[in-house]
Amino acid sequence: MRLTTLALCLATLSGSFAPSIMAKTPDAAMLAADVEQKVIEWRRDLHQHPELSNREFRTSKVIAAHLESLGLEVQTGVAHTGVVAILKGAKPGPLIGIRADMDALPVTEEVDLPFASKATDTYRGQTVGVMHACGHDTHVAMLMGVAENLVNSKDSLAGDVMFIFQPAEEGAPAGEEGGAELMLKEGLFAKRKPDQVFGMHVTSSLPTGVIGLRSGPAMASEDSFTITVKGRQTHGSRPWGGVDPIVASAQIINSVQTIISRQVDVTKAPAVVSFGAINGGIRSNIIPDEVELIGTIRTFDQDMRAEIKVKLAEIAELSAKTLGATAITEIDAGYPVTVNDPKLVADMRPVIRGVVGGENLIEPGLITGAEDFSYYALETPGLFYFLGVTPEGKDPATVASNHSPAFYVDESALKVGVQTMTQLALTALGASK
Ligand SMILES: [Zn+2]
Ligand SMILES: [Zn+2]
Repeated sequence: MRLTTLALCLATLSGSFAPSIMAKTPDAAMLAADVEQKVIEWRRDLHQHPELSNREFRTSKVIAAHLESLGLEVQTGVAHTGVVAILKGAKPGPLIGIRADMDALPVTEEVDLPFASKATDTYRGQTVGVMHACGHDTHVAMLMGVAENLVNSKDSLAGDVMFIFQPAEEGAPAGEEGGAELMLKEGLFAKRKPDQVFGMHVTSSLPTGVIGLRSGPAMASEDSFTITVKGRQTHGSRPWGGVDPIVASAQIINSVQTIISRQVDVTKAPAVVSFGAINGGIRSNIIPDEVELIGTIRTFDQDMRAEIKVKLAEIAELSAKTLGATAITEIDAGYPVTVNDPKLVADMRPVIRGVVGGENLIEPGLITGAEDFSYYALETPGLFYFLGVTPEGKDPATVASNHSPAFYVDESALKVGVQTMTQLALTALGASK
């Protein structure tokens, strides 16, 4: 397989090119080989010290120290623990943004590694294990490597780079703001908006080194909802003495299925509405006053997203009404649809293909997960791609996925991540061969 050849080639080249030589004709493959060992070491250190969303204090210090050592002017404390630095190229040109998310998850690691996480923290009042189960440790380490590469190539850059190390992609703790939305709210793009923004995510669903890139909508919008169904309490033997919110909830749950199957135009884009919990009642012979239903909505089209929210509230209200109950729907707006700019993808797909080879570049299906990279891509053309990290010999369809306590990253994929991102930046800033 081509990747094996690439790996051998990179291993041979590793460390044999000084940055000063690189500055004249930057080559992403050689640059990636130069930083590969460092990226792996940084990743292992971060993996051993994972931190929950908005609590990435140590991670922030590690990033800032590295960027300062590269001679960059570093801004810390952005959206709580975010770190931002701008690299000025030798010649004028566009500004590109490259983003890595920093936070870990309340998951207890089960992978048998010398650098496995033993960290714990408090999450929703409980002591929990903390693990980089989504691979954001690799994102930070790879972007630190890309930053080093681009600093070493700055004499060839026609334009500037904004390195965005972002906290809280997994969602800020209750009652707090965070993530991409807060970084933008604090003015990340206010002074100068990047002309393009790039991001990457490691995934267990692709083999090591394979890149997934999709034009247009790529990841779903995510909104959570709560429907409060109010009836009137009565004895279970005398239902006519009250209003039953449980039967009303059953009707709501069934009728909501018709939003996707009967009402929205599914030829435009798929969508999902799922209920995740039903809470109400405590005893077999008491009809309760109230039932609470919670769930999630996923779409790939902003208009459909708005339409589904309206229909959900209407169905809940009217279904409850037919039984004399009431239903109030509250929507907690989550991340927008992650859309890859079609022109940017068309321009950059050959660049990625040039790095990994056509056989290692695939167009993945739509992903119903959500990403707050979407906020940057609403502001400026964005490109977000996936990097496979499932080692050879394992089946990506059956291995533990991102967010699992058994999520495993094949570190030999990291140089492919560094190389592709470095090459995208060099190309965007007119420095590629
Ligand atoms: Zn995640
Ligand atoms: Zn993630």
